[in-house]
Amino acid sequence: MSIAASLNSQSVTTKTISVVVPIYNEVESLPHLVQAIATVMQENNYTYEIVCVDDGSRDGSVPLLKKLAMERDDLRAIFLRRNYGQTPAMAAGFDQAKGDIIISLDADLQNDPVDIPQLLAKMDEGYDLVSGWRKDRQDNKWTRLIPSTIANLLIGRVTRVTLHDYGCSLKAYRAELLADINLYGELHRFIPALASIEGAKIAEIPVKHHARQFGSSKYGLDRTFRVLLDLLTVWFMRKFLTRPMHAFGYLGLIMMLLGTVLGLYLTSVKMIMGQAIGDRPLLILVAILFLAGLQLFGFGLIGELLMRTYHESQGRPIYRVRSTVGESKYFQG
Ligand code: UDP
Ligand code: MG
Repeated sequence: MSIAASLNSQSVTTKTISVVVPIYNEVESLPHLVQAIATVMQENNYTYEIVCVDDGSRDGSVPLLKKLAMERDDLRAIFLRRNYGQTPAMAAGFDQAKGDIIISLDADLQNDPVDIPQLLAKMDEGYDLVSGWRKDRQDNKWTRLIPSTIANLLIGRVTRVTLHDYGCSLKAYRAELLADINLYGELHRFIPALASIEGAKIAEIPVKHHARQFGSSKYGLDRTFRVLLDLLTVWFMRKFLTRPMHAFGYLGLIMMLLGTVLGLYLTSVKMIMGQAIGDRPLLILVAILFLAGLQLFGFGLIGELLMRTYHESQGRPIYRVRSTVGESKYFQG
């Protein structure tokens, strides 16, 4: 299906825009959501499409979405076979989106499509990613706001991308940027961090946030722990993706070196001073340092092999070019 052209020709932007929404059991919100997005996009004369990804809903969202997609010429609906989770649902939408710029937002009307023009205006200043900041967030204080404040501080520290609010789904991305990012697990929260690994220019602007009107949140408190685990992954990727040997090999070498020094000391105690060393705890330490060091070193080597396979099998270069300027006239035919 083609991108629905807006009615007016005086488009404020020549770029096409895809609005991607993951949907899991949001039947009551759906009609309001689609209408709210369409209204904003049309009022601003954007050339847009709405890409709704149903993530295996069981509450009537599926037939409703089918009906809406058949009636409207600005809506494309994608139905996943089962419930995969928010990240895969968003990834499916990103893969299917045809716009130059992609906007993501939640289906539950907690994000407000009214903020989209502001995000796009910020993108026009030359950013690759503009993230929403739910400055006045309408969620439960104990189960959401406090864990999320801590998580945001930690994520900022670890990823070196300083945003106030990583969890806000309302974001705008340049399509080329998303094409470079592979999402796994629940990593959608870390797109800014992953984007910064790809060298993206990132900005943040305050956006509106509403309490959930219909349905219920799909997450509980246990999400905090999963976010922390994901954070470890992202930290490691950011630091060592192209040089795992520097993480493991370094530590391994130091341990082996320490083991060697202590081992030599023990040997001299035995050989020169003629003392028995069989019952000395230090001997056990030497053995552990040596074996653990060797294993870590091996991890580093395997990591290097995996990293090469990762980059070469996908044709992924280890760098990203923002732009190139100029050309040799001697090379033009
Ligand atoms: N969602 C999804 N698959 C899931 C869980 C959630 O597609 O397995 C969608 C959900 O429909 C909503 C968005 O992800 O559009 C965010 O979910 P929710 O509002 O429950 O998260 P919260 O706002 O509570 O963080
Ligand atoms: Mg929500």
